[in-house]
Amino acid sequence: TNYDKIVYTFDELNLKPEILRGIYAYGYEHPSAIQQRAIAPIIEGRDVLAQAQSGTGKTATFAIAALQNIDEKLKETQALIIAPTRELAMQIQKVVLAIGMHLDITVHASIGGKAVSDDIEALKKGAQIVVGTPGRVYDMIERGFFRTENVKMFIMDEADEMLSSGFKEQIFNVFRFLPQETQVVLLSATMPQDVLEVTSKFMRNPIRILVKKDELTLEGIKQFYVDVDEEEFKFDCLCDLYASISVTQAVIFCNTRRKVEALTEKLIENKFTVSAIHADLSQQERDTIMTEFRTGSSRILISTDLLARGIDVQQVSLVINYDLPTNKENYIHRIGRGGRFGRKGVAINLLAKNDIPAMREIEKFYSTQIIELPANISELFD
Ligand code: ADP
Ligand code: MG
Repeated sequence: TNYDKIVYTFDELNLKPEILRGIYAYGYEHPSAIQQRAIAPIIEGRDVLAQAQSGTGKTATFAIAALQNIDEKLKETQALIIAPTRELAMQIQKVVLAIGMHLDITVHASIGGKAVSDDIEALKKGAQIVVGTPGRVYDMIERGFFRTENVKMFIMDEADEMLSSGFKEQIFNVFRFLPQETQVVLLSATMPQDVLEVTSKFMRNPIRILVKKDELTLEGIKQFYVDVDEEEFKFDCLCDLYASISVTQAVIFCNTRRKVEALTEKLIENKFTVSAIHADLSQQERDTIMTEFRTGSSRILISTDLLARGIDVQQVSLVINYDLPTNKENYIHRIGRGGRFGRKGVAINLLAKNDIPAMREIEKFYSTQIIELPANISELFD
């Protein structure tokens, strides 16, 4: 099914006036391409599968529609939003709260690592919108604290991740507790074919907004590689990069928690100021690291794929892949942490000779170009 209706202004969406005020107060003037196409059908109650490039405003797409469809007087959970990481769930909660600030709607984050007692209390009161991670949400549903009878929207951000990795089982478990007629909305920048096929099992005559894979990379993000020959030369290369670039903020990705730890230690030994995040830290530590990074008090964050998806820090203009990601989707997601909403970004891939074929694969897959990093790289950020 193709849905061709395009709404060019927020005013035309016939939103509750409080939402419109919330949108403008949040600083949005015009809807982005995905917002122009997807908000209206979600409000109309259609199942929607919405793919759009990273940083193009998928969060507000579902946030606005969810806020519009909540019955303020009914103090029961009416919309469930699921995301793959706690950090992303909390970020989404903030956006929904901000856009909905003039409404009387409760938005609760139900995520692992936070006190179960707080969760139970908020859910008992009937938090109208719940944003959560699959494990905790399922736990709360199964134990009867999260009442699902009035849920009418089930929204999955980073849907391909939710439906392919270790989350799949849990997602279907949650599903079984939702009312039959619950509307399903899926969003992601990437939508691999096998996931698309799975969605037909639980979506009803969905509106599909898809992006061809050769249109997924953003023009504003320049992609480079440095061929360091041997893995152990990556470190010196990274140190050189530090010296020659003065960027606002950067994320450096490694493939494992241990590697994040090791690289961070080595950089600190060499007197570089960096912070690190991965899932072996306590949630309190993770929260602190994220706050420091979001406020700009830390500038360089080393991470696993924990931050590959969804995290929106507008000041990030450089992404470094210390390791190439092990799946093609996460390449797009990682480099998409820079260049948010049309801003400029630079992605640099550090490659040992064994990595070159994988990089060429990525290039071919997305019909994009990853070129050798020029010598005078500081100019890239002018
Ligand atoms: P996505 O989920 O598509 O990767 P996000 O929802 O995280 O993207 O949005 C990326 C950035 O763009 C955020 O900082 C968000 O506040 C901003 N943004 C979203 N929609 C608009 C809009 N209509 N006008 C201006 N900025 C917007
Ligand atoms: Mg997103």
